[in-house]
Amino acid sequence: MRYRRTILLAFFFVASAEVIGQQEPVPKDKVDFAARAREIHKTAILFDGHNDLPWQLREHGQFGLDKIDLSKEQTLPYQTDIPRMKQGGLNAQFWSVYIPGRHPNPLRTVLEQIDLVNRMTEAHPNDLEQAFTAVDVRRIAKSGKCAGMLGVEGGVAIENDLAMLRIFHKLGVRYMTLTHNQTLDWADAATDTHKHGGLTKFGERVVREMNRLGILVDISHVSAETMSDVLDISQAPVIASHSSAYALCPHPRNVNDDILRRVRTNGGVIMINFFSSFVVPGAAAKITAKTKEIAETVKDKAEAEKQLNAWIAENPDLYGTVNTVVDHIEHVIRVAGIDHVGIGSDFDGITRWPKGLDSVADFPKVTEELLRRGHSEEAVRKILGENALRVVERSEAVAKRLQAETKLDFDLPVAPKHED
Ligand SMILES: [Zn+2]
Repeated sequence: MRYRRTILLAFFFVASAEVIGQQEPVPKDKVDFAARAREIHKTAILFDGHNDLPWQLREHGQFGLDKIDLSKEQTLPYQTDIPRMKQGGLNAQFWSVYIPGRHPNPLRTVLEQIDLVNRMTEAHPNDLEQAFTAVDVRRIAKSGKCAGMLGVEGGVAIENDLAMLRIFHKLGVRYMTLTHNQTLDWADAATDTHKHGGLTKFGERVVREMNRLGILVDISHVSAETMSDVLDISQAPVIASHSSAYALCPHPRNVNDDILRRVRTNGGVIMINFFSSFVVPGAAAKITAKTKEIAETVKDKAEAEKQLNAWIAENPDLYGTVNTVVDHIEHVIRVAGIDHVGIGSDFDGITRWPKGLDSVADFPKVTEELLRRGHSEEAVRKILGENALRVVERSEAVAKRLQAETKLDFDLPVAPKHED
């Protein structure tokens, strides 16, 4: 009896030691990744590279902001409002101040969009605040508000005048997408005729003046040749505020592997766009083909659009998912490195978002999937915002150095002729 008890006790101790010694990690299917994601978002800075709410508001007759209350949850088409920003942990945002590539008054329009963002910010002083520096972003995000920085989308806004860049900087503009969908007098766009083979001489001066001021050069929307020219001359890191990986989805709006490798050397960051056409290979081409096919038989524009939308709704393969987006993030990590990838959702500027990523409330789902795939908390924080912040900090330092070197040596545009 006593002998058996000893054996049993010995067995018990060995078994306990086994349990304590093993320290087996919790099996993957038992980890609550959603809870871990929520925990990270409590202290992480999520700095999204591109949100088109200002243009969405304008397009839907809300330029005056008097008929919309962004402190209340909105319905579609809006993907952004304060309650959902809080839910999604969105505490730093580059607000896109966009102007269409062919517009009779680009400068005036961009100034109106800046005014709209300012009015939006001032209407919600407890939730939104404008940031001018990386230090501002950290302070504002820590206070529980969302830090807003301005990003001009479309270099058409400067009307070929470098003085406008200087004024934009004073207003708080911290990046400019060199082109939108249309080629300009000085830079080729990705989705238009390539007239210049990249940047013209004036285009190069634009990049240099942006470096000197501390406005990030945004290579989203430009052709691969323009990206390459920018990387040849930019002294500051560049960003793609809302572009995905060309190798996974060969759309001209995406960034190819050669450029990704050069962005690594340059120190920049590629912020992944959620738009299904940019993350699902072939989706954009299929829609273009179907649009043409319908147009051949249906002449009424509204009816053609109705038929196209019905067809799109029946084809779930035209939509990305959280997984597709994370695939693009991982591709950039593989080619350029963990320090060179970020998030550039393009919410309120996209028509087909990935299933499950319906609004700014859903960012933590991306975090959850990154954790599920084994990325460390440190890596996740870099992707969410630390990489973007590093680039803003570096751009500020480069500007400081260049201004010290070239005091008052402004790069002036060709003075317009005085006619009277
Ligand atoms: Zn865009």
